[in-house]
Order: sequence, then C-alpha cells, then structure tokens
Amino acid sequence: MKSDVTYDLLIIGGGISACVFASKFLNNNNTKKVGLIEIGRGLGGRSSTRMSKKYKGWKLNHGSPNFNISNSKNNLLLKRYIDELLKNKYIKIDDSDKFFLNEDSNFETIKESEFSCGVNYLSLDSMSDLSKKIIESNNLKEKIDFFFETLIVDMKFNDKEWLLTSKNGDKFKSKYLICSTNLLLHKRSLKILNVNQIPLRKAIPINTDKKIDLILNSLEEQTFIPRLTFLIYTNENYSYKDYYSKKQRYFYLKNNLENKYRFERIIFQLQDNNKLGIVVHSKNAELINSFVSLKDEEVFKQKIITNFNKLFEGNSLVNKLTFDEKISIMKWRASQPSGLAVPLSLQFSSKYRIGFCGDWFEGDGFGRIEGSILSALILEKKIKDVFK
Ligand SMILES: Cc1cc2nc3c(=O)[nH]c(=O)nc-3n(C[C@H](O)[C@H](O)[C@H](O)COP(=O)(O)OP(=O)(O)OC[C@H]3O[C@@H](n4cnc5c(N)ncnc54)[C@H](O)[C@@H]3O)c2cc1C
Repeated sequence: MKSDVTYDLLIIGGGISACVFASKFLNNNNTKKVGLIEIGRGLGGRSSTRMSKKYKGWKLNHGSPNFNISNSKNNLLLKRYIDELLKNKYIKIDDSDKFFLNEDSNFETIKESEFSCGVNYLSLDSMSDLSKKIIESNNLKEKIDFFFETLIVDMKFNDKEWLLTSKNGDKFKSKYLICSTNLLLHKRSLKILNVNQIPLRKAIPINTDKKIDLILNSLEEQTFIPRLTFLIYTNENYSYKDYYSKKQRYFYLKNNLENKYRFERIIFQLQDNNKLGIVVHSKNAELINSFVSLKDEEVFKQKIITNFNKLFEGNSLVNKLTFDEKISIMKWRASQPSGLAVPLSLQFSSKYRIGFCGDWFEGDGFGRIEGSILSALILEKKIKDVFK
C-alpha cells in the first residue's frame, strides 16, 4: 500500500486539464485531501517541455508550443479563466510571426489553422511551467500529494471507494476519482497497459450506469493522431536571416506542401542563452512508419535536415542547417483525439463518484488545450455541489 490515506479525491494524470481542475477544486475545498498520480516525471502532459539531460540548457516545447482560444460561444467561465491567467502573468498574448507556406514554399496570405484560429497565447516561461504555475497558485502545491512515475493499470470501485493499483503494485484509495486522461477508458489501454479488459469497464460492469456505458461507447469511435516531433539543437552561430527577437516563430505548411515534405509545422524557439531551437512536427503516416522501421536513426535525422533545407531554399528569413546539428525525436503515440468527441453531459457519474476531463470532450477546443481547460472548469462546477 502506497499510503494508508483514503483521499477525498484522486486525480489520474498531470496534464493541463488536471492542473486546472485541481487548482479550482482546492480553491473551493481547501481542507480536502487530494492526490495526483502521473506516469511522467513532472506536470504538463502533452503540453510540456523537454529539458534535455544530454543537451544541457535547452528547453524545447515538444508538444503544444502555445495555445489558441476560439471560444465561439463566448463561454464566460473560459473567458474569466483566461483573464485570470493573463492577470497572474502566467501567459501573454502570442503576437509571434506566423507564416503559412503554400505549395511553392511561398508565404500565403490566407491564414488559417486549427492551431491558430481565435486568440493565441504563450506561456511566459515554458509550457511545462504553465501547468506548474497553475498548480502552485495560492500555495496549492503543498495541499496535494504528487505521485510521479506512477502508472495506474487497474481500478476497482468497492463500497463507495475507489481502489487504484499501479504497475508497481502500489495501491491508492479515494472517495472520488477524476480521470483527466481517457487511457483507462479506451481500447488502446489493452496494448499499452497490457491488460485484457478496459480498466474502467472492468471496474463498472455494463448496464449499471447509463452514463458510463455511453462514455465507453462513444470512445469506441474515438481514435488518436500519432505525431513525431523532431527537436533540433542548432549550432552556436545559427540565427535567422533577419533580426527577429521574439520567443517563438511559426511556419505552417499548407496541405500539398505538407504531403511533399511530410512536415506539418515548424516552430523556432529562442532559448535563454540566445541559441535557436527548432521543433518540427509531423503527422505523416508514411514518415512515422519509416521512422519505426528504420534501424539507423542517424540516416533518418539526415533526411529530416535535407527536407528542412529543401523547404527553406531561397527563404528570406530562415537559414539552412549544416547537418552537424543534434536532433532528438519524440514519438507521440496519441498526440490528439480525433473522430467522435464525448458529450460534456457524460462528464460526471454521481453513482460511481467519478468525473472526467481533458481535450477529448466535445466543443470548439476538441483536441486542443482550449478543450482541456474548458472541460476541467465545467467538471469542477459539476462536482462543487457534491462537496458542499
Ligand atoms: C505534438 C503536439 C502538438 C500539439 N499542438 C497543439 C497546439 O498547437 N495547440 C493546442 O491547443 N493543442 C495542441 N496539442 C494538443 C494539446 O497538447 C492537448 O490538447 C493538451 O495538452 C491535453 O491536455 P490534457 O490535460 O487534456 O491531457 P494530457 O496532457 O494528455 O494529460 C494526461 C496525463 O495523464 C497521464 N496518464 C495517462 N494515463 C495514465 C495512467 N494510467 N496513470 C498515470 N498517468 C497517466 C499522461 O502521462 C498525461 O500526462 C498538441 C499536442 C501534441 C502532442
């Protein structure tokens, strides 16, 4: 047993939705005992930052580099929360350059992308720091027990109490449970966790709660986009051709160009020591498969640089790379949900004392940070009455 404590509330996952939920919940329920369990080494999840042990001093946002809020329904809960983050100086409006490259690699005037519509925001520090600051606001950090590098593989609901088991055999008990990830609800868990039944289905038998059945049914129709991100640590003297000095600069590739180069987006990220990091995103299946099947990673990295140089040939802002840069690769098995989004009405089951949040819920922000934040704020409101 990890501890004898029965938590009032346990949260599985430490991404941005879990952090938003935890901070709001604790603000309203100051005396409750809360624990957060995360398989990673820190907070942030898919909006986190690689601080390489190998390449010292570099901090590269290797998941979501920033975030955009469209809020087309003018949701006040979301608006007020973003205002709060702005006021606390955790984020600022992202007025970085954004370029859209057309099939001839020229700049395009029509600017649209699911990641740039609405208002764009940037964390004042790194993306991982944003999640940390949200949790640390009002000294909330001290009020949560964190269990990092802990993978939950099994869940049981016994007599009004949740019992979770980690891969290492640690046990956790709680009165209420929040899943900020849908891994334990989705068929991909069978392979990833090496279990023979979806953990939530095992915990809650069919036909005992309509909401749970509906949520599991809708997730059958939800798939995940895999992505590769290439983190390029450029050489000391690498710079832009012009004198741009903002923290980030984005290049989006229009469809035909994306097919040609297999890159989706390229983000230049200025480091504290003035070096220029480059993160290249790809969701091209062919490229992902060739990476998986290719034995020699070095050959693959050279291909990435060749493509980068071809793409920016003759570009007025970007210099070519010299092939001696260091590159690391991040393989996102499930970077973004796609297909059917889960209705927000299924977010909370009072019978089983379980709630859900994350970017896998319906709305403008489906598959984006906007959805993660909004679903966490809505869930916190729903659970508020229960804890009165
Ligand atoms: C490469 C990439 C680029 C992106 N670009 C953008 C963008 O430009 N704009 C945008 O808005 N969004 C973008 N996104 C999507 C955005 O990152 C996500 O929508 C958001 O970060 C999801 O946050 P979350 O808290 O809902 O989920 P997550 O960040 O996935 O948090 C869930 C956490 O749960 C943990 N976990 C899962 N299962 C278990 C378990 N069994 N036990 C313990 N821990 C567990 C995971 O490790 C994870 O940290 C991008 C994502 C990627 C990967």
